[in-house]
Amino acid sequence: MFPFRYTKAADEESALRAGAAGARYIAGGTMLVDLMRETVERPDSLVDINALPYTSIDVQPASIRVGSLVRISELGAHPVVEQRVPMITQAILLTASAQLRNMASIGGNLLQRTRCLYFRDVSAACNRRTPGTGCSAIEGRNRTNAILGTSQHCVAAHPSDLAVALVALDAIVVTRHISGERRVPISELFRRPGDSPEREHNLRPGELIVAIEVPIGPETRRSGFFKVRDRESYQFALASAAVALDIAAGVIRGARVAVGGVATVPWRLPAVETALRGLPATADVFRRVAALAADGATPLRENGFKVELVKRVVERQLATVAALP
Ligand SMILES: Cc1cc2nc3c(=O)[nH]c(=O)nc-3n(C[C@H](O)[C@H](O)[C@H](O)COP(=O)(O)OP(=O)(O)OC[C@H]3O[C@@H](n4cnc5c(N)ncnc54)[C@H](O)[C@@H]3O)c2cc1C
Repeated sequence: MFPFRYTKAADEESALRAGAAGARYIAGGTMLVDLMRETVERPDSLVDINALPYTSIDVQPASIRVGSLVRISELGAHPVVEQRVPMITQAILLTASAQLRNMASIGGNLLQRTRCLYFRDVSAACNRRTPGTGCSAIEGRNRTNAILGTSQHCVAAHPSDLAVALVALDAIVVTRHISGERRVPISELFRRPGDSPEREHNLRPGELIVAIEVPIGPETRRSGFFKVRDRESYQFALASAAVALDIAAGVIRGARVAVGGVATVPWRLPAVETALRGLPATADVFRRVAALAADGATPLRENGFKVELVKRVVERQLATVAALP
């Protein structure tokens, strides 16, 4: 470890001031402390935000607002969330281990950093960790890396399960900064690596996530999340799918589909959603349309299997969600 300054913010104003002065926010610490131990991240100053009042889950008729400091276990155990938007509950219950879910916060989950082996190995080249050094994963051990949204500078997969569900649901991320509040559509939160993989999101320095807002309605009831991983106890996704279907008289009126584990950001599939609209909810349709799930994929030496896997994960999840009462 290395020396750093630690303060605990008593209120939002002092947190935002510390953030604007360059301090890093720490919530559950389940990611940040790990990365600091490994010297992947070396912040000079941490500001603990756990005393801030972002800890409630408010259910309204058309939305659910979740404070950024709600522990993901609490969101995963919320009965109304499970009833109104089961894909969130399922994504959470497939996230990490029970102990980690008790510590991990919603805001921290969204801003967690990649599990790419080379990002975490300070002796390896990694443009995301140290810009301009190269990407060891492109020619290296890349089985768990991304096949979608990659660039010649970075192929790291986005690790969050919850973010995949939130992208499918068009959630809003509510933030505060010393200059004011913003409402950021979650699809605009995450950045593809392009030629600056070190910039992973569109928050400004010192911008604090205070809540997420999830629109809910009759169509979010028929939803679910499915994840394939190497180990069932806990592990990051090799491929996952968040699906919501609006079906009337056996015909698909609307679909929301996003995938995880295969892309550099939580990956929405608009072509799949459009293709499903107006078609009967049958196994044959799901197979045909799920074939679009890997369009544009650029697999690497070890992760070509994800091309077929993501199609099958989408197909299976479409069928599972369609069969819900
Ligand atoms: C063994 C293991 C297995 C895991 N498996 C999974 C998995 O299967 N799926 C999955 O999705 N995740 C998984 N995770 C990741 C885990 O979900 C994250 O570590 C956790 O959600 C991070 O939350 P935290 O509150 O601990 O964040 P912290 O470690 O406190 O912070 C993480 C980052 O977010 C920033 N931050 C935190 N809160 C805010 C805020 N309100 N506003 C702005 N910035 C903020 C911090 O500055 C830091 O950069 C796993 C982690 C471990 C260690």
